[in-house]
Amino acid sequence: MTDNNQYVIGQPDVIAAIVKAIAASPCPDCNADTEQTTDQHGTQHLAVLHDNTCPTYREMNS
Ligand SMILES: [Zn+2]
Repeated sequence: MTDNNQYVIGQPDVIAAIVKAIAASPCPDCNADTEQTTDQHGTQHLAVLHDNTCPTYREMNS
């Protein structure tokens, strides 16, 4: 993976809780956006979109 997106897959209530947590304390470096999609099984997919240069994301994945 070469992009800076974190992906979470889960039940709608789990995803909603994560979105709420991110909204309450967004990424301090890039204010990462979130993107929610629902697949054909009704499972929610959440992408947390960090900037390409985000040091917080880099630290999480080092
Ligand atoms: Zn970030």
